[in-house]
Amino acid sequence: MLDNTQVERLEAEAVNSAKVRQPMYAARKKIFPKRASGSFRRFKWLAMAVTLGIYYLTPWLRWDRGPFAPDQAVLLDVANRRFYFFFIEIWPQEFYYVAGLLVMAGVGLFLVTSTVGRAWCGYTCPQTVWVDLFLVVERAIEGDRNARMKLDAGPWTARKLALRISKHAIWLIIGAATGGAWIFYFADAPTLLVELFTGTAAPVAYITVAVLTATTYTFGGLMREQVCTYMCPWPRIQAAMLDESSLTVTYNDWRGEPRTRHTKKLQAAGQSVGDCVDCNACVAVCPMGIDIRDGQQLECITCALCIDACDGVMDKLGKERGLISYATLSDYNANMMLATAGGACSVDPSLVRTDDGLFSDRVAHFHVRKIFRPRTYVYMAMWSLIGLGLLFSLLTRDRLEINVLHDRNPQFVTLSDGSIRNGYTVKLLNMIPEPRTIVVSIGGLPGAEMSIVGVDLPADRSFAIRVEPDRLKMLKVFVRLPADQIHGAAQTFTLRVEDKASFESNQYTATFNAPEIAR
Ligand code: SF4
Ligand code: SF4
Repeated sequence: MLDNTQVERLEAEAVNSAKVRQPMYAARKKIFPKRASGSFRRFKWLAMAVTLGIYYLTPWLRWDRGPFAPDQAVLLDVANRRFYFFFIEIWPQEFYYVAGLLVMAGVGLFLVTSTVGRAWCGYTCPQTVWVDLFLVVERAIEGDRNARMKLDAGPWTARKLALRISKHAIWLIIGAATGGAWIFYFADAPTLLVELFTGTAAPVAYITVAVLTATTYTFGGLMREQVCTYMCPWPRIQAAMLDESSLTVTYNDWRGEPRTRHTKKLQAAGQSVGDCVDCNACVAVCPMGIDIRDGQQLECITCALCIDACDGVMDKLGKERGLISYATLSDYNANMMLATAGGACSVDPSLVRTDDGLFSDRVAHFHVRKIFRPRTYVYMAMWSLIGLGLLFSLLTRDRLEINVLHDRNPQFVTLSDGSIRNGYTVKLLNMIPEPRTIVVSIGGLPGAEMSIVGVDLPADRSFAIRVEPDRLKMLKVFVRLPADQIHGAAQTFTLRVEDKASFESNQYTATFNAPEIAR
């Protein structure tokens, strides 16, 4: 037997041992993004105006569906279980259209990401758009980066208090408007607006507005980039969707390094210098507070504001734009190989230029044809096929339906004259916003007649039933078959519905049960 000291001790240490464990969450460092200007910033303004305009204005658009349906163009009518989208009305059993649209949105996101990286994050994600909006308010009240930093570091004065109260008050108003706009999608917007301000709206409306006000204010005003970095799964997923031909915001260190603020001095000393003058303009405008020169990072939402900032610097220096640019990994790698003589030396920007200072012909530049590759063709084909399938299904769908449920207990009743009676629950769906007279009739099953509970007419093979607009009508139907017409324990027949005015029809194949003895 060994004693304790004889047991071999292995030299091993847990990778997350208490000594070396990194905190999962780093305390937030305040970011004061500087206002950027340039083509990407203008595009972001446009994206912001369009997305916010759609969100806030859509519930106020009207769409005439006649006197029997709501006239709100986009409405999720939870009480009546209907979704209205302009000329389209979706019933609960047609929810697969919404599922199809979500699948299309997912495939579209794959397509966009594999092509132009996280464009969704940078331009249209609600978090990005609202943070941008909150920053507009912050800049308008507290000033640009330097003024905000100075105010933040300074003592609490009456001015600072007034500025901060104003900023947070406007943020809360934006939050309330955001929550308010959301609930307008679920009820008639003008009516609900009056109810909200007169205190007569349902409690759930006030609760929803309060919750969305709080989340918008917290996410857009207080947490900002932390939502993207810590809460959103998309930065983790996107890596799987990018390949070497995807465009991403890239610092082209093959022309930027070695960076220096003393270009002339170093050049005079015969040293090769890059185009980056280490001015940090790209860092100052970044809403995520990162330095793109450190390479691709999970935090980068590819908003391209650093491109605008750097292009502005390059313009002032009289150098080519694009030190930071949208570039593919394959182009970047090719240019790095060129600038490092195939990896034999550190970056030497003179290797990518000709003697007269222009870029060498061997420098790879992006061309739009690089976007079109098998992967994007597959995504485009999937997206189009789903879209065409949904469109075809939408244009050919039935607006008049019949559903039938056979009584289970008893399955049949033998009447005093020997005839057999079966009971059915029949649902007639009039899926248009107009009242209709629907003829319900029996097809097949010779000799059979039906009677409908509540319809005071003698038994017959067909009945005309009025169905209210956009409604389901439930009927209790009895079908009776004389004994001499029974040819089996289970005979099939059809229950057919037809609108004589529009010639729309539909039918359901049902079973008529009879006792074995009756055969
Ligand atoms: S690094 Fe550039 S693209 Fe990325 S988030 Fe910052 S400013 Fe936007
Ligand atoms: S803005 Fe351009 S030049 Fe200035 S530090 Fe960034 S990459 Fe270098």
